[in-house]
Amino acid sequence: MAFSALGLSAELLRAVAAQGYARPTPIQSQAIPAVLSRRDILAGAQTGTGKTAAFTLPMLQLLSESTGQHHLPRSLVLTPTRELAAQVGESVSTYGRHLPLRSMQIFGGVGMGPQLAQLRRGVDIIVATPGRLLDHAGQHNVDLSTIELLVLDEADRMLDMGFIHDIRRIVNLLPRERQNLLFSATYSREIEQLAKGLLNHPQRIEVAPRNTAAETVKQLMYSVAKEQKRALLSHLIRCGDWQQVLVFTRTKHGANRLAQQLERDGITAAAIHGNKSQGARTRALADFKRGAVRTLVATDIAARGLDIDRLPQVVNFELPHVPEDYVHRIGRTGRAGAEGTAISLVCADERALLVGIEKLLERRIKCEVVTGLENDGATTVALRSNERRPNPEHVQRKKHARTQSSNRDRAARDAASRHRGRGSRTANSGNKRSPGI
Ligand code: AMP
Repeated sequence: MAFSALGLSAELLRAVAAQGYARPTPIQSQAIPAVLSRRDILAGAQTGTGKTAAFTLPMLQLLSESTGQHHLPRSLVLTPTRELAAQVGESVSTYGRHLPLRSMQIFGGVGMGPQLAQLRRGVDIIVATPGRLLDHAGQHNVDLSTIELLVLDEADRMLDMGFIHDIRRIVNLLPRERQNLLFSATYSREIEQLAKGLLNHPQRIEVAPRNTAAETVKQLMYSVAKEQKRALLSHLIRCGDWQQVLVFTRTKHGANRLAQQLERDGITAAAIHGNKSQGARTRALADFKRGAVRTLVATDIAARGLDIDRLPQVVNFELPHVPEDYVHRIGRTGRAGAEGTAISLVCADERALLVGIEKLLERRIKCEVVTGLENDGATTVALRSNERRPNPEHVQRKKHARTQSSNRDRAARDAASRHRGRGSRTANSGNKRSPGI
């Protein structure tokens, strides 16, 4: 299917062509016509599927056609993080560059003044994180009663981050009559509940099976002692000549420490996490994107929604506690059809976490055991051997087969004993029937 078959205006098709997109991604070919026909949408799509354009393009088209008053807020996109708000905001500007619409981003960590000034000048589209938007609403800086279209982007993340009450408060400020689009990478009971209260006969769109890692991502793990992880990481980056690698740690402190250690190993690195100022986070991301730093070390929350084109390597320096976070992390690579590798460094006390992840993925991650690291002077060499571990899917199947066969055995035993029972009863009754014989 071509973009021109989706009913988008010439201005939007021009902007899409300038991005070099050959054809719509599956989420785009399903969502764009549905949004244009003013349906509510419940879409299961991870980052990397092209979901931003899937809601931004039809949103821009509807706004440019709408008879509503120009430069009053008519579309509101809510995102869980500042970074995602900035990225969605950029996409809105990029795709809408030939349209006379104004958009702005509202998020915390920066001054209210410039945002207020933009609001006063007038704006058609607001891309915002919930907290700062409520601050502006509380100070009567923004009137949301003219919103016609609401988008909740990465709704599962927003719930994980405790934004449910903020979302409800914002929804109460919107007119009842409006179109709603909800995008979520995973479904939970809470998401279903939110969708039920918010969406009106939504069209459900599912582009990737739930909770599965992007198919283009090659996954690998190294079983390694905790104290050797850092040396192994430096070795992998140097030997593989990785120029752009996103590394996940569990804590902010761990992210800082690792970035410093990598720098000491001669590998340029920056850390990005919630304790860093917005300016420092934006700078680190920009440096990473333009290749000024090779390694970006991030915590889960800071990395949410980061869109870095064709990111080739993701490393889990530590496994996440929540298996779904593994899927989100590795979704940063292999985006929109590009190849990528996700490598996890797993030490003995993370085995239980690995089991949880493999269960969720319903597959085993290929493992290489690092038996030691030797320093041969110039380079550190990793000694490896392949480890054989049972595939959880096979274990599950075998278990199922065992249960089935033991059920069959039990059923056969029961049948046999029933038969024997019947036989002896028959014999008895036969005896009863022929007492006189
Ligand atoms: P998203 O899932 O919205 O974060 O998008 C992931 C990446 O895919 C972004 O870098 C987009 O620029 C890119 N992208 C979006 N739509 C297309 C398309 N139709 N063809 C190729 N790349 C795309």
